[in-house]
Amino acid sequence: MFRPAMRRILQAEDLMQSRRATLDALHRRIRRCRACRLCESRTRAVPGEGPLSAPVMFVGEAPGAAEDAEGRPFVGRAGTFLDRMLSRLGLTRATVFVTNSVKCRPPSNRAPRDDELAVCRERWLDRQIDLVASPVIVLLGAAAIKQRFGGTPQLSMLHGDVRTHEGRRYFLTCHPASAMRFPAAGKAMDADLEILKTLLQAKA
Ligand code: URA
Repeated sequence: MFRPAMRRILQAEDLMQSRRATLDALHRRIRRCRACRLCESRTRAVPGEGPLSAPVMFVGEAPGAAEDAEGRPFVGRAGTFLDRMLSRLGLTRATVFVTNSVKCRPPSNRAPRDDELAVCRERWLDRQIDLVASPVIVLLGAAAIKQRFGGTPQLSMLHGDVRTHEGRRYFLTCHPASAMRFPAAGKAMDADLEILKTLLQAKA
């Protein structure tokens, strides 16, 4: 017979395995998704990746050409920038969960439309957020912020904000691609990383 402490550990492991299986099944369904027009032009849907209970989940905008070809998030230039961000936070790709607001590449990398953001959130992203259960979710850029909170986000006003919404904690910042391209966004991102570092340390 197992002692109560050992039984609790085994139960926690069972729970973890069943969450992983549920997440893997969700990702298989995402790869077959035909819920909006983006499925017509994609090569591969990109569900996202990372461990369960990652201390932080990053939500970008949408797969680009490199991600569409590989089926993995942030593998192009923006991914190199994301990796640099992670290293400044003392994190690596293997320890965080990375996904996007929409799981399929919009044609010519246009911004995702409102109906695409809505359907992808309802069907997939909200489920991922519940299953991964990261204490902090970082919304990278206007599309991810709009998908969560609506409106027309003004990044210059909103970046660096921490918001609690439906029991989850969100951190709002710029998209890595704009931080690479625009000096003001790069500066904002620098300041935001310091805030995020403090937030993650407080949660550890
Ligand atoms: N790659 C992604 O996966 N998402 C983005 O938002 C940008 C590049």
